[in-house]
Amino acid sequence: MRAEDLPEISERAGRLYRDAIVIDTHNDLATKMLDEGYDPAVRHSPSEGHTDVPRLIESGITAQVLAAWVDAPYAQRGAGAAFERALAYTDAIHALIDACPDALRFAATGADIRRAKADGVVAILIGVEGGHAIEDSLDHLRELKRRGACYLTLTWNNGNHWAGSSIGSGATRTAGLTPFGRQVIAELNRLGMLVDVSHTSSETLADVLAASEAPVIASHSSARPLAHHPRNLSDEELRAIAARGGVICVNFYSRFIEVRMRDAMDAAEARAEAEPAGTAAQRSARLEALLARIPPTPLSILIDHIDHIARVAGIDHVGLGSDFDGIRLTPASLDDVTAYPRIAQALLDRGYSDDDVRKVLGANVLRLIDTVVTAIPR
Ligand SMILES: [Zn+2]
Repeated sequence: MRAEDLPEISERAGRLYRDAIVIDTHNDLATKMLDEGYDPAVRHSPSEGHTDVPRLIESGITAQVLAAWVDAPYAQRGAGAAFERALAYTDAIHALIDACPDALRFAATGADIRRAKADGVVAILIGVEGGHAIEDSLDHLRELKRRGACYLTLTWNNGNHWAGSSIGSGATRTAGLTPFGRQVIAELNRLGMLVDVSHTSSETLADVLAASEAPVIASHSSARPLAHHPRNLSDEELRAIAARGGVICVNFYSRFIEVRMRDAMDAAEARAEAEPAGTAAQRSARLEALLARIPPTPLSILIDHIDHIARVAGIDHVGLGSDFDGIRLTPASLDDVTAYPRIAQALLDRGYSDDDVRKVLGANVLRLIDTVVTAIPR
C-alpha cells in the first residue's frame, strides 16, 4: 500500500493511542529469530517481517507478548526435546531484551507493564504456545513460570496427551481435558499464569471453563460467525469466556477473518503444490507470487470481528492478539506492528468512545493480567 493511501490518524486518535495502555497478546517474532536467523535489532520491510525492535519502538506499543512456540514434531522427538525447545525460546527472548536495555524490558505483571509505560520502554512478556512443551510434567510447567511465562496456550494445531486441539493435526486427539489436564489447569491457577484457550477444541474450552478458578484468555482468536474457521470462536464460546471474566484477543490473519481470503489461499496453495515440484524455496516463491495477486482483506473486516466480540461478549472482554510474524497475510494498512494506531482510528470512526477504544487497545488485557498473573517466584 502506498503511503498516500494510508488512513489518516486524527489528533484525537493519536493522543488517545499515545496515552493508552496498548497490549498485543501474541506475536511470533521469536520464531523468525530462531528459525530464520532474523535479526530483530535492525529494521525490516513488512514483507520480510512484521516486527523488529526499531518498529516496536515506533509503534508506541506498551506491551508485546512474544510466543515461545513449540512446533508439533518436537512432541515426537523423544524425552526432553519439546521442553528444551520452549527453554530455547525463553532464553532467546530474554537475550533479546538484555541486548536492548534502552528499548525493551521484561515484564511479568501488570505493575511491570505500567512501569515500562511510565519509563518509555516496551514491555516484553512471554507466552508459551503448545501444551506438549511441558511433556506431561507439572515441574516443567513450574520451570516455565520461573523463566517468565505469563501464559500457556494449552494446545497448538496438534493436541497432546491431556488436551484437544481445534485442528487435531497429526491425528492428535481433539476431545476435552483428561484428569491430568485438569491438574494442569489447577497448577496454572496456583502459579498465577493465564490459561490460553486459543487453538483448543470446543470440548477442551468447555472443560477449561468448568475447571479453571481464574478467568482465561484467548490470546489470538477471532469470531467464527463472521468467518467459519476452527481457529475462531463461536458466539456461545465468546459469551462463556466473558461470563468467567476472560478476554478474547482478535487474530489479524486474513485467512481466519475473511472467508474469501481463506478460500483464495486454499486455492493458491493447491495450485502451488500441483505445479512440478522444485526446491522448497521455489515452491515458496510460487506461492508468494500467487498470494500477492489476491486483493487484501479490508481493515474494516478486522474491525467487524472486534465489533462482533464487543457486542456478543461485551466491550470489557475484547483485545488485540495480532499473531504478527506467525501469519502470511494481514489486512490492508495493517502491514506491521506500527499499524496499531489505525485500529484506534477505525474504532473511533465507528463511534466507539475513547474509554471503549482504550479497553480494546489494552485495558481489558491489563485488567486480566492484574487479576491472574503473579510475579515470578524467587
Ligand atoms: Zn498460534
